[in-house]
Amino acid sequence: MRFTKKMMYAALVLLAAGMVLTGCKKQENANTIDLIRKAGVLKVGVKSDVPGFGLLNTATNQYEGFEIELSKLIAKDIFGDDGKVVFTPVTAKTRGPLLDNGELDLIIATFTVTEERKLTYNFSTAYYTDAVGMLVKKSSGITGLGDLDGKTIGVAQSATSREAIDRAAKEAGAALKFSEFATYPEIKAALDSGRVDVFSVDRSILAGYLDNESEILPDRFSPQEYGVASKLSNKTLAAYIDGLIIKWLADGTIDGLISQFKL
Ligand code: GLU
Repeated sequence: MRFTKKMMYAALVLLAAGMVLTGCKKQENANTIDLIRKAGVLKVGVKSDVPGFGLLNTATNQYEGFEIELSKLIAKDIFGDDGKVVFTPVTAKTRGPLLDNGELDLIIATFTVTEERKLTYNFSTAYYTDAVGMLVKKSSGITGLGDLDGKTIGVAQSATSREAIDRAAKEAGAALKFSEFATYPEIKAALDSGRVDVFSVDRSILAGYLDNESEILPDRFSPQEYGVASKLSNKTLAAYIDGLIIKWLADGTIDGLISQFKL
């Protein structure tokens, strides 16, 4: 094959484009914490409906819980001021896109670390492990996984729950039907009105929807390890956060918060 002038130009253009792209990427990676410092505030996506983890107290309009305190500690480490953090409520469906589009710096919102998700986001070392469970109406007669054959399970879109309960039910000899919803209040409404028989997600999340007519069954399956997530390209931020989590796991800070919130 002979190199023509056209081919030479094309190769040069590609080389130049490659250099520009690597340059941009390097800058994005190197400056994240500086950019957060410059912005003067850490933007964290949290849950607003998970008691003990991330709950919006409607009386005070303040967020409360383990994941809120963790966010404040990170802000304290970055700015020397735990007040420099702004919370945004997220759902299983919205949290990833809000990292991707740069609206949020971190997600600390019962976000389970999975091998598949690690391809799309950075996750810190896990700071807590929960398990998937089931909320049913007390009047349903359902007592555990063995009673689920033919039942309809309400799960959230983009959550780990569907796969988890499907696997556990199969092992118990039950075949399930599913109904998927964007938010947890919609699943609870479907449970109340009888459109689904079971509301399944992490037990910590179910606790926010428990009332006099419903109960959380004793079964727990598919451990859910929660990690702090950041945008995949923000490698320096991810390494910084991971260092903090590892330190706080070792020095008892995280255990202290877990007992403070009785988790
Ligand atoms: N923790 C589970 C997950 O990450 C349940 C969904 C949720 O956190 O809302 O998929």
